[in-house]
Amino acid sequence: MMSGDKRKFWNQKIETMPGDETRRLQMKRLRKQLIYNYNHSLFYRKKFEEVGMKPQDIKDLDDFRQIPLTNKDEHRRAQEESIEKFGHPYGPTSITCAPIEKIVRINSTSGTTGTPSLYTLTQHDIGIVNEIHARSFWMAGIRPGHVILQAMSLSMFTGGLPLSQMIMNVGACVVPVGVEGGTKRVLDFIKFTAPVAIFATPSFGQYLVEECPKLTGNKASELGIKWFFTAGEPGGGNPEVRKLLSEGFGEAKIFDHTGGGHAFHGAQCYEPPESYSGLHFLSEDYCLLELVDPKTKKSIEIQDGAVGELVLTFLDWEGGPFMRYAYGDVLQVFTTPCHCGRTGIKFRIIGRADDMLIVKGVNVYPEAIKREILKFHPEVTGYFRIVLDKPGPLVNPPLKIKVEYSSHLGNEEIHTVEEQLLKNFRQNLRISPKFIWIPPNSIPRETKKTRFIEVEKKE
Ligand SMILES: [Zn+2]
Repeated sequence: MMSGDKRKFWNQKIETMPGDETRRLQMKRLRKQLIYNYNHSLFYRKKFEEVGMKPQDIKDLDDFRQIPLTNKDEHRRAQEESIEKFGHPYGPTSITCAPIEKIVRINSTSGTTGTPSLYTLTQHDIGIVNEIHARSFWMAGIRPGHVILQAMSLSMFTGGLPLSQMIMNVGACVVPVGVEGGTKRVLDFIKFTAPVAIFATPSFGQYLVEECPKLTGNKASELGIKWFFTAGEPGGGNPEVRKLLSEGFGEAKIFDHTGGGHAFHGAQCYEPPESYSGLHFLSEDYCLLELVDPKTKKSIEIQDGAVGELVLTFLDWEGGPFMRYAYGDVLQVFTTPCHCGRTGIKFRIIGRADDMLIVKGVNVYPEAIKREILKFHPEVTGYFRIVLDKPGPLVNPPLKIKVEYSSHLGNEEIHTVEEQLLKNFRQNLRISPKFIWIPPNSIPRETKKTRFIEVEKKE
C-alpha cells in the first residue's frame, strides 16, 4: 500500500529557494570548502599557489575564477603520484582531502583508456548523494510502496551498488537484478517482483521491448511498467528514443538523469507532462556550477540559454571534492522558472568538449548534428559521419557530413530531404554543411561507442 505522503517536494526549502538565497548559501559553503581543500590536499594547495592566492583572499566569484581549472588527466596523474609516494591513491598529493580512515566507498569512472578516475566518499558524502537522488526520485513520483527494478550493471559505478542505496533511501523497494544475468533473467524478475519502475540504459530498454514478446509471449507494454528511468547513456534526452521506450512500455513515463562525480545531479521533471525541457540541477546547495568556453577556458556568465563546458566545485564535501573541475560535458543552461515550482537552473547536455568543432567561428557538436539528422528518420537511417580534412576543432568550411538515406528513397526525395536538412542546420546550428548521400548500411554499426567523426586521409 502507498504511504499516502502527499508532499510535493522531498526538500521544499532547498528546491524552491529563491536564486539569490541559493547564491548566498553557495558562497558561504564555498569559502569554507576552499579552506578545507587548501589545508588537506597538496594538489589543491598548488592551484592556489600558482596564482599567489590563499583561500582567505577569495571574497567573490571573480576571485574564485582566478584559481586554475583541474581536468580529468590531472586527477588521474595526482592519483598515480600518490601511489608512488604514499603507497595508495588517496594521499595528500591527490584530490582526496579526507584521511583514509574516513573513506567508506570508492566509485570510479569506466577507465577504458588507462587509469580510472577514483571518487572517494565519506559517510557524510554518501548522505549527500542519497539526499540529492531522493529529491529526483520524489520529483518523478516515486514513493514508499513502489518497487523499482534496477537493470543497470551492478558494478562500482554510480548506477550500480550506490543506486540501490539511493532507491532505498527514498523509501522505495529496490530489486537489484542487474543487467549481467541477461535479458531473460531481467524479464523473469519483472514477473516475480511486479515492479512499477525500471532503471536501465536507454539501449537496454529498447532491447527489452524487442525481446520481451520472443522470450515471454507477451508485449513489454503488458508488464505494468509506469516509470522508465534512463541513465548511463545520452539517449534519454533524445525524442525518438523517448518515444520508442514510452510506447514500448505502454505509455510509461521516461525520466532522464545525469550525474558527474556524485555531487552534480540533474533529473527531469514532468511538468508540463508532454514536454522535455531539460534537466533540473537538483544539487545546487552541494555543487557550484560554472561554464567556460571549451577552447579558451574563459568564464561564461550563467544566463538563460548560455552554452559552455561544465566546471564543477563541490560544496560541503569531505572525500574527494572537485574544485573548478572541467568535466568535459558541454551544457546549455536555462534560468526561466519551471512550471513545477523548482527555482534552480535547468540544463541540457549538448555534447563533449573534446568533440567540439568550430566552423566559421560557430561552435558545433556532433550530438547536436545527430539530433538534427534524427528528425528525418525514417527518410534517413540516422547513421552519419562528419568528414574532416584534418583533426578538429577548426574546420575548413563547408563542414562535410555523410548521411545514409533509407532504402526506399529515390533521388527526388533525397533532394527534398536535403533542402529541409539544410534549412534546419542554418536555423538551429547556424552552419551550412555539405551533405554527401550514401546508401543504407555503408557506415559500420558499432556496438560500443559510436564514432561520429572521420578524418579523411590525403592522397
Ligand atoms: Zn520542473
